[in-house]
Amino acid sequence: MKKVIILRYSEIYLKGTNRGYFEKMLINNIEKSLKGFRHEIHREMGRYLVDEFKEEALDDILERLKKVFGIHTISVAAKVDTSLDNIFEACREICHTTGTFKVFCHRADKSFELTSMEIAAEIGGRLCMAFPDISVDLRNPSFTINIDVRENKTSLIFGEYIKGQDGMPVGTAGKGLILLSGGIDSPVAGHMIARRGMTVDCLHFHSYPYTNLQAKEKVIELARVLNGYTGKMNLYIVSVTAIQEAIHKNCSPDYMVTLLRRFMMRIAERIAKREGINCLITGEALGQVASQTIEGMTSSQDALETSLPILRPLCGFDKDEIIERSKAIGAYDISIQPYEDCCTVFLPRHPVIRPAIADVKAEEDKLPVEELIQGAMKTLETIKL
Ligand code: ATP
Ligand code: MG
Repeated sequence: MKKVIILRYSEIYLKGTNRGYFEKMLINNIEKSLKGFRHEIHREMGRYLVDEFKEEALDDILERLKKVFGIHTISVAAKVDTSLDNIFEACREICHTTGTFKVFCHRADKSFELTSMEIAAEIGGRLCMAFPDISVDLRNPSFTINIDVRENKTSLIFGEYIKGQDGMPVGTAGKGLILLSGGIDSPVAGHMIARRGMTVDCLHFHSYPYTNLQAKEKVIELARVLNGYTGKMNLYIVSVTAIQEAIHKNCSPDYMVTLLRRFMMRIAERIAKREGINCLITGEALGQVASQTIEGMTSSQDALETSLPILRPLCGFDKDEIIERSKAIGAYDISIQPYEDCCTVFLPRHPVIRPAIADVKAEEDKLPVEELIQGAMKTLETIKL
């Protein structure tokens, strides 16, 4: 029996003048995600059908589609020439052998001899005959069999709705730069914003040789997890070793993290300007660690020369909630591998928790800020994923 994949997108996105644009981006992203797999995509009302793929590739194709933002649900359906016997054969193949069920039928082909209710009743009756241990429960069935009698004399039969990512197609909401550490939070933050349709690149800071090279490999792996959802991205890697050494040598140790953050923001801003990026994205959550107070965030924001926004999608989340999302996107097992973040190098014993801007600036004035930024920019390495 021939299999096809039904992809549905959420209708709320289709309202208004953006419909055509949304659809074009979504189909482009689906095509990109299926690169390397033989397939055809056909557009129907409110959904797409993928067919002509090799059946051995079905699981791999589904894995790809489950990561495309903008897809609401996915079903694998049998496609048959419309006749009661053919429809019944396909239903029998996916029918459970125990439990309660209902048959739901949608009939677009009004020329077919039975109404949708009659088809459902007929097929339901035949299934009860074929499987003695199942019974009909229209209100609260343990499984449902769906029949879609289409206008083109073919019918689709499927059992399951697989949840897609939802969200908006990548490419419909500007471009952001994720400040990607090797931790749990920043990949989750990046995923959340990309899921709203934003194209994303990543920026990682390291303090080699104080941090080891495995830290870099780990970040590349995390960026790959994200790029499984978003498609092509750039991973920028910058050394902040000289900056940390300068802070360590010249400033009060308690300001290490606060000052380093300001340098990170400035470097990110320069890259953003050069690459036409509209915002920065961080994994900060209010109150999670000493540097993530509102005063700490104010200090980071203050370092920027322009009005570039910093998005902090995790701001209102508890750690447990972030961990759950990290697992769901497939980043957790990589994130928990031990590594040294550059922030942990020269870590002060008593970091300032509520830095006052005037004090931060007084400490920063002890440093050749512009020279340090330019030095760091010279270490910029770009990895294309
Ligand atoms: P994460 O789990 O994302 O590492 P965290 O809880 O460890 O976050 P911090 O170390 O305070 O928090 O970092 C806050 C945010 O600053 C991170 O989520 C990330 O966006 C950014 N950041 C921190 N360190 C780096 C780094 N080495 N490279 C790039 N961005 C970083
Ligand atoms: Mg961290």
